[in-house]
Amino acid sequence: MNPLHLNDRPGEFPPSWYAASCPPPPAARPALEGEATADVCIVGGGYTGLSAALTLRERGLDVVLLEAHRIGWGASGRNGGQVGSGYNKGQIWLEKRVGLDTARALWDLAEEAKALTAGRAAKFAPDARLTPGVAHGEYSADELASVRAEAEHLSRVYGYDKITVMEREDYAALVKSPLYRGGMLDRGAGHIHPLRYVLGVGAGAEAAGVRIFENSEVTGLTHGDTATVITAKGRVRAKHVLLAGNGYLPIFEPRVSRRVMPINSFIIATEPLGERGRDVLAEDIAACDSSHVVNYFRMSEDGRLLFGGRSAYSIKFPANIANTIHRRMGEMFPQIADARVDYAWGGTLGITLTKLPNIRRIAPNVLTASGYAGHGVALASIAGKVAGEAIAGQASRFDTLSALPVPRLPLGTYFQTQTMALAMAWYALRDKLGS
Ligand SMILES: Cc1cc2nc3c(=O)[nH]c(=O)nc-3n(C[C@H](O)[C@H](O)[C@H](O)COP(=O)(O)OP(=O)(O)OC[C@H]3O[C@@H](n4cnc5c(N)ncnc54)[C@H](O)[C@@H]3O)c2cc1C
Repeated sequence: MNPLHLNDRPGEFPPSWYAASCPPPPAARPALEGEATADVCIVGGGYTGLSAALTLRERGLDVVLLEAHRIGWGASGRNGGQVGSGYNKGQIWLEKRVGLDTARALWDLAEEAKALTAGRAAKFAPDARLTPGVAHGEYSADELASVRAEAEHLSRVYGYDKITVMEREDYAALVKSPLYRGGMLDRGAGHIHPLRYVLGVGAGAEAAGVRIFENSEVTGLTHGDTATVITAKGRVRAKHVLLAGNGYLPIFEPRVSRRVMPINSFIIATEPLGERGRDVLAEDIAACDSSHVVNYFRMSEDGRLLFGGRSAYSIKFPANIANTIHRRMGEMFPQIADARVDYAWGGTLGITLTKLPNIRRIAPNVLTASGYAGHGVALASIAGKVAGEAIAGQASRFDTLSALPVPRLPLGTYFQTQTMALAMAWYALRDKLGS
């Protein structure tokens, strides 16, 4: 049941529209063979691991990064591309849990996360086309009222005034689904081609001197003043370790699986829609909602609707991803229900009970950062950056992110997926009732 091996061909990118719209991948980097030493060994070559690697190289540390498949093979190369503001919980919620000062510091880090993404995209992957605008649809008057309250709070307390809240008619003119009661548009958030972005950052990290090994799954870690990170054919002895395997990691480290579990999400890409694309989204923005399965969508640069949705809490991908997601797309946008599906793929991401990332020191010289739920495109980069800072000796911002409330999972492991679904529902209800 290890998601590293369960759903995809080893060492190959899934057959996504993203892979199809990138140049053919270069030959894999070599696998680790024999013994290597480094100041820092990073496990995982997605946004978190690469961001940490870049930060560490900027500070002159020697870094080895081990990736089980290819750089960007995980969630970072297959996601919805939405570069969101803040966290999965609003600032009002966070202030109640961690106090205003910490909530403000967390907000500042989330703002920096978007700026970091924009800066790295401009430097390493301008073809990833970072574009502003993310809308969020609400299904009820209550949901719309709380979005309005949050937007007003962000403007008043944080000076963030890039959000417009819309009633039904205005929102339906922007996101052309009959299902929404209203929604909001955040012009400070954006969307990006996730695979081009992560491949560009990977090339940038390598050019900066990070030693990257692909097809090098880590199977063990021996703790100590010098830790030993073990793969099938080699080992790395390092003063510090960062575990950055996100949803694929819990199988490997119980101190992560106490708080983070893997779930899957799926995306389809329709045929190019031409002029019909404007019947779905009036502008080149991304959009999402918070129904219990979560829908997210945007147009590709060649006019396809990329439509995604979360699944049940099962680690195995369903047999027919395209049918399930296509049906949901047709309910949301009946006007394009007949559009052909050209690509369908899934991915595994890490999630926690609060849907907030688990940023933690699990041993004096071993850090972990994962569990961003559907909010990791920007947050994983800042988490990697502050983990790099902490390893280089400046831990204050890492400690701020560690303050995000992430309770332990019931029964202490993700394997009981039905139990997990119940636990998530129970936690959400308890949260709603304010207990
Ligand atoms: C379908 C989908 C849609 C999503 N949509 C969005 C969105 O629109 N916006 C948003 O903000 N977030 C979204 N997310 C979440 C987001 O993609 C992730 O939060 C983010 O990519 C996490 O980056 P990461 O580097 O921590 O993890 P990953 O990108 O998953 O990278 C982890 C890497 O670690 C490697 N690894 C794991 N274990 C080992 C091991 N033992 N040895 C060696 N290597 C190992 C894996 O192979 C993988 O490449 C989505 C995720 C999915 C799957």
